[in-house]
Amino acid sequence: MKEEKLTSVKRFGTRYGRTTKLKFGQIEAEQRKKHKCPYCAAVQVKRIAAGIWNCTKCRAKFAGRAYTIARKQEAPQESPQEQLKETVEEPEEQEDFQEEEQEA
Ligand SMILES: [Zn+2]
Repeated sequence: MKEEKLTSVKRFGTRYGRTTKLKFGQIEAEQRKKHKCPYCAAVQVKRIAAGIWNCTKCRAKFAGRAYTIARKQEAPQESPQEQLKETVEEPEEQEDFQEEEQEA
């Protein structure tokens, strides 16, 4: 496995553990990088505070997620149709007016 970059977490030195710092570093890199503006499509959106993003080009200030603008698209969401299928209650068995034909 490729060695992960630990740029922003070097300030922690040897403390807090490797895995924790790796995850924190990935999140912090995501929140620090410039994001794509949903209004003018320029990659000029910077994070002001948790969930608050500002486009330096069109000056749009808007709400997003805490550490990134939008939910990552890598994880595909379940299609709504499948969710419907799961939630649909199966109809209770109704008494049949027709007599069941059973062959012995
Ligand atoms: Zn913009």
